[in-house]
Amino acid sequence: MRTVKRYPTTTGDSWLEMSSYKNCQFLDPKEIKENYDYVIVGGGYGGYGVADRLAELHPEAKIAIFEAIKIGNGDSGKNAGFIIDVPHNFGDQGNTTFEENEMYYHLNTSIINRLQKNIEDSGIDVDWDHCGKYLCCANEKSYKMMEEEARDLDKMKVEYKIYEGEELARRTGTHYYKKALYTPGTLLVNPADVLRGLFTVMPKNVEVYENVPVMRVDEGSQATIYLLNGKRVTANVCIITAGPFMEEFGVCKRIFCPVLSYGAFTRQFTDREMHTFEGVKPWGCTSGHPAGTTVRLTRDNRIFVRNGFTYGTSRTTSHQRIRWAIGKLRRAFEARWPELKHVNFEYVYGGMINMTFNFRPFMIRHSSSVYCSASGEGAGVCKTALCGHYLAEWISGIQSDELRFLQKISTPKHLPPEPFTTIGATIRLMWEEFRAGNEI
Ligand SMILES: Cc1cc2nc3c(=O)[nH]c(=O)nc-3n(C[C@H](O)[C@H](O)[C@H](O)COP(=O)(O)OP(=O)(O)OC[C@H]3O[C@@H](n4cnc5c(N)ncnc54)[C@H](O)[C@@H]3O)c2cc1C
Repeated sequence: MRTVKRYPTTTGDSWLEMSSYKNCQFLDPKEIKENYDYVIVGGGYGGYGVADRLAELHPEAKIAIFEAIKIGNGDSGKNAGFIIDVPHNFGDQGNTTFEENEMYYHLNTSIINRLQKNIEDSGIDVDWDHCGKYLCCANEKSYKMMEEEARDLDKMKVEYKIYEGEELARRTGTHYYKKALYTPGTLLVNPADVLRGLFTVMPKNVEVYENVPVMRVDEGSQATIYLLNGKRVTANVCIITAGPFMEEFGVCKRIFCPVLSYGAFTRQFTDREMHTFEGVKPWGCTSGHPAGTTVRLTRDNRIFVRNGFTYGTSRTTSHQRIRWAIGKLRRAFEARWPELKHVNFEYVYGGMINMTFNFRPFMIRHSSSVYCSASGEGAGVCKTALCGHYLAEWISGIQSDELRFLQKISTPKHLPPEPFTTIGATIRLMWEEFRAGNEI
């Protein structure tokens, strides 16, 4: 296949800075062996999903994971930390049938339960909170999305509540929002903390290596994996879960259109500043418009905001772009909490939402020795973990309705040729941000 030209980089600081697992050590690359049964490229939630299930199905197998940067510094550790059970508006809105949404709900809850069980059984202490999620609207024009979601939840018989006025302000510590739909099944987590914590307690037959970029994967009766550090290993099967970098390996072409988005954390509030949040528990909301601002009050007393979209043509963000994003992030924070506008941001970063053109996942058997998987949408943590989980079953010859469903919907559309994609995506993202108005 192809030699990788672009590698992931770390730009900006994020959840990893607040993780108690930040400095834990994985294996020394000197320990890398020449041969494995399974090699997984990428240590995000997708890679975790594959490794977790393969290790369970094949306790005798030798399994290695190679992650290019520090685990938790990739997009799996740089998202907004919503592990969402219900089908989510961003990305897949209007693109899935009711039956598909029902199946997603079933699959999402089953993978959430599995992650929860792994956390409980291993005894790791990670930032994982069952506080549910608000879909918040600052503007009556945005009620449409909330009403559509409520209708689907009614049909699926999933519990939710509507809050507005003073009750909503008491729950969020701001009068900015007019109305919200609350679903209790979403978890709010520090995604880097959970991911890193889970990787530290992998079974003994799984070797985890970070800061070990993979340069090339060649297929054959066995896969040959060339590492950037000069080592070469072979594996019966190599599974590529490289997120937005999937195409770099030559396993597909013009499938992914990564969208950059930006996040910021305030410093921790003082006791006095926390009076604004008197009686308010940690909470989080996605916006009533797909291009609006995501907000969280974290367990360690910070506000997190995420907004801004740009098309990630070069699959990387930069310090300049992050600086540009700060203005919009600050406006969102200060509009919601004008009394706290003196509070600075401690960490700011940019990440890549790994979209496909039609928001469908990418889950393929490229050859007998190479498989690939990626989620293809904005709310990708659950989906990529479950694609990884069922990919491990596929490789192991286990058939199920769940696997058949994922195989059936794994139909990402090809992107139009350049320059149409870049121009089209840029205009569409700008238009969506304009339409989002004060939801940003
Ligand atoms: C700002 C932002 C907010 C988001 N918020 C949410 C949210 O709240 N909830 C949600 O569900 N989803 C959210 N997402 C999406 C979510 O983060 C992704 O869907 C998820 O991280 C995809 O996981 P993955 O494992 O498939 O890919 P990734 O997380 O991208 O993991 C792939 C890994 O492969 C590694 N890799 C790539 N190339 C190589 C190589 N050559 N060698 C070795 N390793 C390599 C990368 O370093 C990376 O760590 C958000 C995304 C962003 C950017």
